[in-house]
Parts: sequence; C-alpha cells; structure tokens
Amino acid sequence: VAPARLLDTAVFDLIAQEKIRQTHGLELIASENYVSEQVMAAQGSVLTNKYAEGLPGKRYYGGCEIVDQVEQLAIDRVKELFGVAWANVQPHSGAQANAAVFLACLKPGDKILGFDLSHGGHLTHGSPVNFSGKYFVPSFYGVEKETGLIDWDKVKETARRERPKMIICGASAYSRDWDYAALREAADEVGALLLADISHPSALIATGLLNSPFEHCHIVTTTTHKTLRGPRGGLIMLGQDFENPFGLKTPKGEIRQMSAVLDGAVFPGTQGGPLEHVIAAKAVAFGEALNADFKSYTQQVARNAQALAAGFVGLGYDIISGGTDNHLMLIDLRSKGISGKLAENTLVKADITINKNMVPFDDKSPFVTSGIRIGSAAVTTRGLGESDMGRIVELIDETLTNHDNDTRIGQVRQQVNSWLQDYPLFA
Ligand code: PLP
Repeated sequence: VAPARLLDTAVFDLIAQEKIRQTHGLELIASENYVSEQVMAAQGSVLTNKYAEGLPGKRYYGGCEIVDQVEQLAIDRVKELFGVAWANVQPHSGAQANAAVFLACLKPGDKILGFDLSHGGHLTHGSPVNFSGKYFVPSFYGVEKETGLIDWDKVKETARRERPKMIICGASAYSRDWDYAALREAADEVGALLLADISHPSALIATGLLNSPFEHCHIVTTTTHKTLRGPRGGLIMLGQDFENPFGLKTPKGEIRQMSAVLDGAVFPGTQGGPLEHVIAAKAVAFGEALNADFKSYTQQVARNAQALAAGFVGLGYDIISGGTDNHLMLIDLRSKGISGKLAENTLVKADITINKNMVPFDDKSPFVTSGIRIGSAAVTTRGLGESDMGRIVELIDETLTNHDNDTRIGQVRQQVNSWLQDYPLFA
C-alpha cells in the first residue's frame, strides 16, 4: 500500500487502464452510458465527506446548510424533468429504490406480480434469489412465445387469479413500450398498487418518446445511470395524484402521505446517510437532461437502436419481438448456433462489449444463455449516428461468424480501435 499523500498507483493505474478500455472499445451494454466531466467532478468532490441523514432542512447532523441546497436542487430539477409532484433522490441504486418501495407498501408474505426475469424482468421484481422473492410471494407475467410481446389481457387474467398487493412493470430487457393504462386497470380490479420501474428507458420517457407512467402508476422508480446518463444511483417519484392512493390513516387518524412513507422507507428504513456527492452528480445530470439538446440525444438513441435492429434482421438475426421502441434489443442466437456466453467472450476480444442474456423460453442456464442484449445509449453519447450502426452490426457479425479465428477477431479489434480514435471520449 502506498504511503499516505503519495499517489496510490495500485488503484490509479487500474483506473487509467479502465479509461483506455472505455476509450478503445465499442460500448453496447444497454445499461451503460458515459457521464459528462461535470457529473464525474461533482461525484469526486468534497461532498463525499459529509454526513446528512434526514432530508433537506430536517437533518440529524450539523453543517448541512450547503448539502441541503445541493439535494434540493436535485429534487427540484428531477421534478421538473419528469413533471412529477414529489421525488426522493437518495436511493443509492435502482435496487435500493425498489427495496424502499417494497418496505413502504408491503408486509412480508404479501403477494406481488412482476415481469418474469427470464423474459426480461429484473431481479428486484420477485426473483427467488433477491429480497423481493424471499420476503414476498411472487407470481409473474411474461411475453408470448410467437410474438415476443406482453399480452396485456393475459396480465389482467394473471392479476385476477393471483390477486397481488402490488403489480410491478418495467424491465431490463424488453424492447417495446408499456401499456400503463391497461396495467392500471389490472391493478384497480384487484386493489393493487402499481409500481413502474423505468430504470432503462427513463430518459426516453422524460423526453416524451415513450408512454408516460406518471398518470397511471402510483409509484415510479428509476436508476440514474442508464439512458438518463447520470451517476450510478436510484430515485423514487410520485405522480400528481398519488399522495394517498389507499386513504391510509395514521393511528391518530391523520391522512398518511405516500411521500412521507416513502421518505421514511429510504431513511431510516433501508439506508443510512445519503451520498451527497452522488446526489450532486445527479443534480448535474438532471440539469443536463433539462437542456433542449437532451431530446436530440434521446431521439438519436432511439433511431440508432432501430438502425441496429434493422441491420441485425437484415443479416438473419432473430430479434425478440422483431424490433425495438426504445434503446435496446434482445437477440436470440440459437439460429446462429452460438450461446450468449460464447458471443460475449468473443466480442470482448474484439473490444466490443455486450452482455449475454436469457431470452424468453430459454433452454440454457443464466450463465450460458441463448441470447445477447444490445443497447445504443453509450455509442450515441460517443457521437455515433444511424449510418454507423450498419458498421457496428457488420463488425459484430464478422466477429461472431469467426468466433474460432483469433486472427480475424484481431483484425476486427484493430478496425474498432482505429475507428473510435475519431470519437474521443474524455477531455
Ligand atoms: N431495475 C431495473 C429494471 C434494472 O434494469 C436495474 C439494473 O439493471 C435495476 C433495477 C437495479 O439497478 P442497480 O444496479 O442500480 O441496483
């Protein structure tokens, strides 16, 4: 270990190597993006030194006058960005945001209904390996085998049969838009709360490119680091009409406000001190997303995803549901005779990063998988446009077709590296 005050080269050399990796490679992991220098500067700031349990103006520590303003800025900006009545910006991650909502709204043993993990859902929506499947009783809806689409009537049927206390919508690997109105009907029929986890497409929703969950869903959670292009983190929001969806009363008969219950479920319910340096970085990212040019970014993200999907379909790849409405797609590689694991490992050798992913009705394990997931958010930030997507598809196809030929893969890597020199990432 380096003595104090000397550069800790053991760590900083690795950070330098990671910077080179990010600079040289094509980043197509659907949940990743590149944040701005300002977002990184805010996160790497003195705010990391401050304890601030509580909320702006109501803290358990002294010296919070400045972080109060930072957190309030983040709250005000995100409310404006999504047009919502209330937000808590403290969740350390998307999983933490969901944990707080579960704690606020459910009791152990309550039934929940979520989108099947193996069809594109998220672990925190009821998977048996996650708290959500251990402390609650999950059931799932999925996509149709023939279409790769969710059938909203079938979700309603499942809700009628299972009678969950909470229905969760949103996904990690579903390329189509959501019918929040239909889901709300399903929730109302059985008296369930409706939670939308918009972690993946949140920036496309904020800029009006996809359906808005806020009129229909009682609670909305998101990560801040995917399409939203902020620091790693989470947040919870309430639409205009959902302060007290069930007429909850305190033991003294006062109306219980949903926002207060959710605030308490974040701290002290599931977290300690908020990460004010990360909250500052969230505020910067929300400010960037409020700029007029952010909509051009999200429009380009969607156009790039569509160009990628069309390119893959043109080369005979099987895209689940046949295309995409958002920033990502799921490709079933069974018709190409390779597994998701082999594809991921081979593409890494060509400096192209994607992730292996289960596809609906997969016959392989989550460690092998039949598919890969690809997203356009990061390459769009990098400055690539629709005309570049065909080249990406060709490079991927060349690599996968020659997965046992290291010479050919090395040639692809050289092409990737020299191409990306024209798109510098960091100042
Ligand atoms: N919810 C969804 C839909 C996600 O895709 C993810 C992350 O991939 C999460 C929640 C969890 O976010 P985090 O990794 O920040 O805990």
